[in-house]
Amino acid sequence: MIGKLAHVRSRSDVVIASLAITGVSVVCALLLTACLTRSRRVVGDFGALRLAAEISAIVAFSVSFAVVDAIRHILKGKRTVERLAMTDDLTGLANRRAFVAVAEHAIARFDAALPPPALLIVDLDLFKRVNDIYGHRAGDQTLQAAAQALARAVRSEFDFVGRLGGEEFVVLLAEADEETARRAAESARAAIEALRVATPTGEIAVTASIGRTPLVAGDTVSTALQRADEALYVAKRAGRNQVAMLEPNVGEPSATLGEGRRRRDAPDPLRRSA
Ligand code: GH3
Ligand code: MG
Ligand code: MG
Repeated sequence: MIGKLAHVRSRSDVVIASLAITGVSVVCALLLTACLTRSRRVVGDFGALRLAAEISAIVAFSVSFAVVDAIRHILKGKRTVERLAMTDDLTGLANRRAFVAVAEHAIARFDAALPPPALLIVDLDLFKRVNDIYGHRAGDQTLQAAAQALARAVRSEFDFVGRLGGEEFVVLLAEADEETARRAAESARAAIEALRVATPTGEIAVTASIGRTPLVAGDTVSTALQRADEALYVAKRAGRNQVAMLEPNVGEPSATLGEGRRRRDAPDPLRRSA
């Protein structure tokens, strides 16, 4: 029985199962009552038979209630497991697996008549030094703060933010024309730059480099990620704390640097200010 219940997947399954079980219970109770009423002549005690029928109806109802409750519990457990499998432990953001599922969905629904989705890879700059200077726990706090800052920087109802792993985050902007994507990437970069993370070992300021690329027809998640990664590499090489964009389908990969380039005389964001 439990093995069968494990195949229940959705609320509609619960409704169908509930209706089926309730229907079977009612039919059983009716049949039992009819049989007992017919055998009234044999037994001769109608009151006792009625009582038996009522008891069987109550038992049938209780059993169906218990089964439906068990199904609800199994569904709830499944949803919790599914949510955990899609969530990054440290930041609470969606994890890489969730990103791949969402990106595959976006690619499958690709519509050339609409502005394309755009992909950003956001990589915190010199993060190893954050750990080295402030300690791993403070590094974790910084990752959490960066995750929240990114989530606040995008359109929450349309865009997806996740943690790819380590100090790398991913943003999938829905229907983002060039200007929308450029602004979103810049506001993500600025949001990280503006962060001040108070930790027991000092206040931490970090920056991020961002690789941006639009998705195009024929992309897979991995080709899109690869292009965003190439753009990220350009942003890193150009001095970090900036956005670089890589156009798809260009012969020679060449990224365009966006705003936010750190001035040569700007202070090192990893200054220690404990
Ligand atoms: P770059 O600007 O070139 O990206 O330099 P980087 O130091 O950020 O890059 P690198 O790949 O050399 O180092 C990444 C660091 O991120 C090293 C690792 O300790 C740290 N890191 C990865 N995951 C976590 C984590 O979950 N918590 C903490 N505290 N640190 C992490
Ligand atoms: Mg990295
Ligand atoms: Mg990094």
